[in-house]
Amino acid sequence: LVRLRARLARSQNSLGKGLLTLLSREHLDEDTWEEIEETLLIADVGVAPTQELVERLRERVKVLGTRTPAELRGLLKEELVALVGTDFDRAVKTDSGVETPAVVMVVGVNGTGKTTTTGKLARVLVADGRSVVLGAADTFRAAAADQLQTWGERVGARTVRGPEGGDPASIAYDAVKEGIAEGADVVLIDTAGRLHTKTGLMDELGKVKRVVEKHGPLDEVLLVLDATTGQNGLTQARVFAEVVDITGIVLTKLDGTAKGGIVVAVQRELGVPVKLIGLGEGADDLAPFEPEAFVDALIG
Ligand code: GDP
Repeated sequence: LVRLRARLARSQNSLGKGLLTLLSREHLDEDTWEEIEETLLIADVGVAPTQELVERLRERVKVLGTRTPAELRGLLKEELVALVGTDFDRAVKTDSGVETPAVVMVVGVNGTGKTTTTGKLARVLVADGRSVVLGAADTFRAAAADQLQTWGERVGARTVRGPEGGDPASIAYDAVKEGIAEGADVVLIDTAGRLHTKTGLMDELGKVKRVVEKHGPLDEVLLVLDATTGQNGLTQARVFAEVVDITGIVLTKLDGTAKGGIVVAVQRELGVPVKLIGLGEGADDLAPFEPEAFVDALIG
């Protein structure tokens, strides 16, 4: 939590502090409530969730009468946690429940942090005693397979790769085959995220999915979104959700200039939980998403 707080504080993430300052005003007049709304909108929370939150806060502040800073912080925390959602299953499915390895496909636009996230996730799993095979199916970006293999060597996971510009689906197929042959626990497949045409993306990811499913079920499809891209990220999320069934979201670069409210907006948009967050470029900078800790860090 301390690290999360430090990382988020480094960003321009003063959502909670801004709200708390506004809420502490002696008179909560219409202008103040409008400023509160604005603060939430600027933080990427989205229009509908912002209105809901403000309505509930207004109601509760009215009922409360006296308002100490601690009471206000408590209210704000409760409402923000409720908005982020507490009833999602946020565990990444890395146990297939059968003999064969769990298969996790990582998708997203290039540059969002897919390869880095795949490497970090491999590290977490290996540290947890699981054996991992990596599939370098991002054959579009020249350096992606090298980058993934470097991660693999660092954490102790074999990387299955093909020729540059090769067929992503056949690499994914080979990776799962290798995972089965090795008796691995998890196969993580990094994919390419070209968004130039939706049909191109659909064809490619659809094909990867189909060949993986020749071996068994696809257990998890993680969509990686760069949190600093705000509304643009939401548009990307929509396109990917049309192409594959997303089961979880990874929000990267929350240590940057991102505004944490995007967590709320993207979950609403896809109806899928944020499962992991990226807090830096380093190997340890991937954390499970925990609503309470996240809101605590946001409020500061
Ligand atoms: P890909 O094209 O989606 O595979 O993206 P990469 O994994 O190559 O990441 C693109 C850049 O973003 C790299 O410089 C990464 O180090 C950086 N990156 C990835 N995740 C994070 C994060 O959580 N925080 C920060 N600050 N940088 C990140």
